Parts: sequence; C-alpha cells; structure tokens
Amino acid sequence: MVLDLKPIFLNDNKSLSLNCEFDFSGVDLNDGFPLKKPAKVSGSVYNRAGVVNLSVVCVVEYDAMCDRCGKECTQNYEVPIERVLATEVFNEDNDEIIVVEDYKLDLFELCRCEVILSLPMKHLCKKDCKGVCQNCGKNLNDGPCNCATQKVDPRLKKLGELLK
Ligand SMILES: [Zn+2]
Ligand SMILES: [Zn+2]
Repeated sequence: MVLDLKPIFLNDNKSLSLNCEFDFSGVDLNDGFPLKKPAKVSGSVYNRAGVVNLSVVCVVEYDAMCDRCGKECTQNYEVPIERVLATEVFNEDNDEIIVVEDYKLDLFELCRCEVILSLPMKHLCKKDCKGVCQNCGKNLNDGPCNCATQKVDPRLKKLGELLK
C-alpha cells in the first residue's frame, strides 16, 4: 500500500487518517509464519507547522508454539510507529526520519519491517511459563512432575555402588 502524501506535504495542518489491514501471513519469523490473522493498522499522517509526522499503531496477532513448553498459543502485540517524514535527507544519522521520494510512502513495507524488528525473540504462552521437564517431558505449568523427588544425586549413586 503506497500512500501519496503530496497533499499533506503541501498543506499546513492537513492530515490523513489511516485505518487498514495488512496481510503478514507470508512473514517468516523463526522458521514459521505466525502472523496468520491480518494486522490492524491505525493512526495518521499529519502536517504540523510544515513538519510531516507519521503516527500509527500496528496490532498483530502472533500464533505459534510457546518456545518453552511447546503449547500452541496466541499473543497480541502492539507496535507503535512514530516517524518524521521528509522529502530529502538533512541528517542521515537520524533514524526517526524517513525519506519519502516523490511524496510516496510504502506503508505496508514500513509496517512489515517495524513489526519484524519489534517482536520479541522468544514467544511464550505466558511470561512465567515453566516449560517442560527435561526428564519426563511433562508440561510443568500443569503442576510439578515426580522427577525432582526421584532423581538420585550421581555422587550418592556412586557411593551406593562402592558400598555394595
Ligand atoms: Zn509455555
Ligand atoms: Zn519430570
């Protein structure tokens, strides 16, 4: 989706509301395609005293297995994007400024990049997910397993063998 922002750039105090959905189902994240549902993008581009700003929030639904316990789970993430738009570069080191050539901005591409950068590296079913027991494979969110009590300290085991 390419926006033509010429009317915004040329008119002080003019704004354009944005309300759209983007299909990110083809976005490959950690060897999967977790953004199955369309992302909702809302916000605006506005000209305030000659400075053109973009302010949007991208809401994505992340649908994948928990990295710790392997359970399928869905999380919603809000990715705010705040940028100043300019038609030429004044300061190349400023990440806050996006240069729009010919007043055209590819909003889809911008949102896609920002979403990929801001999603957490680990996808967890809940913040304090306990994961699975390395020994018996039980999901420890459902309660403790019996391994911890049964496990024999290997040093004690050796001692036991020596005593035989
Ligand atoms: Zn989990
Ligand atoms: Zn166990």
